[in-house]
Amino acid sequence: MQRDFWPSSDPPFAQTREQALRRLGQFAQTVSRYSRERNHVMVGHPNVSRLSPAIRHRLITESEVAQSVLDRYAFSTVEKFLQEIYWRRYWKSWLSMRPQVWSQYLGDLEDLRGSEGWERAQEVIDNGGPVGVMNAFAAELRETGYLHNHARMWFAAYWVHTLQLPWQLGADFFFRHLLDSDPASNTLSWRWVSGLQTPGKSYLARRSNLEKYLAAETIQKNPEGIELLENPSPLPLPMGTISRIPANPGTSDPSLAQTAQGRVGLWIHEEDLLAGELLRERHFEQVFITGDLQAWNQRGFSEVKQKWLTSALADTQYRCQQLYGQQVRLEITPKTSEGLIEWAEEAKLQTVMALRPEVGLVHDGLSEIEQRLAQRGVALLLVDREEDLQLAPYGKAGFFPFWKKVSPIVRALGSLSR
Ligand SMILES: Cc1cc2nc3c(=O)[nH]c(=O)nc-3n(C[C@H](O)[C@H](O)[C@H](O)COP(=O)(O)OP(=O)(O)OC[C@H]3O[C@@H](n4cnc5c(N)ncnc54)[C@H](O)[C@@H]3O)c2cc1C
Repeated sequence: MQRDFWPSSDPPFAQTREQALRRLGQFAQTVSRYSRERNHVMVGHPNVSRLSPAIRHRLITESEVAQSVLDRYAFSTVEKFLQEIYWRRYWKSWLSMRPQVWSQYLGDLEDLRGSEGWERAQEVIDNGGPVGVMNAFAAELRETGYLHNHARMWFAAYWVHTLQLPWQLGADFFFRHLLDSDPASNTLSWRWVSGLQTPGKSYLARRSNLEKYLAAETIQKNPEGIELLENPSPLPLPMGTISRIPANPGTSDPSLAQTAQGRVGLWIHEEDLLAGELLRERHFEQVFITGDLQAWNQRGFSEVKQKWLTSALADTQYRCQQLYGQQVRLEITPKTSEGLIEWAEEAKLQTVMALRPEVGLVHDGLSEIEQRLAQRGVALLLVDREEDLQLAPYGKAGFFPFWKKVSPIVRALGSLSR
């Protein structure tokens, strides 16, 4: 099925660290063209890296990507690409200071279930809507788990401003299917398109813009309804909807990683699949890698997405076995807390150490995990990546103030600037 969207026989999206590094190496050769060509949406997506699932689950980190391109090019040549790489960190930082935006979104989804908007959204998802190219994007998303950034923007704008459907239901459709679905990038991008994220700014899908940037063959194959995008206007938001949400920076102490005593096990969750490499200097009795099947099913993750996650977790097990020997277990458990407790008891652990998950599904399950481990006398010790901690305080306002603070740190990663 992917053949319509994917002309080559290569796997379109890296699902192991090795594939991600290889893809990065290939992409780095052409990255100087990125700022000129990235907005053009072509079949097979040759103008962009397609690294987002690997970056999202950390088969590869933002700083590795930045370093790789900065080792070959001057900062000014690749700044646009680096900005995009660090948009993700910006959204993460912004949401970490306002986690209520994520919980409010989940609550809204519950409230919308069965409503008239929900029924209409379901109809568009199941049977298509009035604009052919948008139906083609929805099909691509379902079949491949990916959409180009421009297609995401057009589809979200069409959903919100043309079809006048609740943004939360569109965000949920993306979240269930995107291999890279991310509580920060997805939720906040949908809010941005809707006009909620940056007061006074919303994004519209215009026919002229699609005709300029979308491959002509995609429009020719799906011409119906394109005239509906002739003169779009933003959906007026209800009074009082737009408000600046104040930031509440948290605190965290990276030196904690050194303090765990006694028998310590490492828990690797799907938010950061490089935890084993990061903490390899420490001794662990055992390593436990989890995929939370219950959360995947509750949130309706597609089969394509579950397959990708399963492969990335298996790759993590393989890499950890190289580092830690046979004491590495992978469980795609019906419930992470049950699996963790059983493992901690069997391995007679006193502490379970993990990288702190950022706002999202794994984070939502933490307090239950912490409580249940504590009842058995096991402490949960969460540690942070220093590179994330360093950037975390800068997402208080917009992206450009963030980039002003962060770009010197990023620039220093490359060998050309040393
Ligand atoms: C409505 C909507 C929903 C989105 N949902 C997600 C999501 O759930 N997860 C996600 O990772 N991205 C999301 N994005 C951002 C962006 O579309 C994807 O990151 C990008 O398309 C991934 O493709 P790529 O790796 O080929 O990108 P490239 O252009 O090659 O960019 C390289 C990397 O930079 C980061 N990046 C690029 N553009 C953005 C952006 N606009 N915002 C944040 N990070 C960016 C990604 O990590 C990406 O892998 C969304 C955008 C919109 C408009």
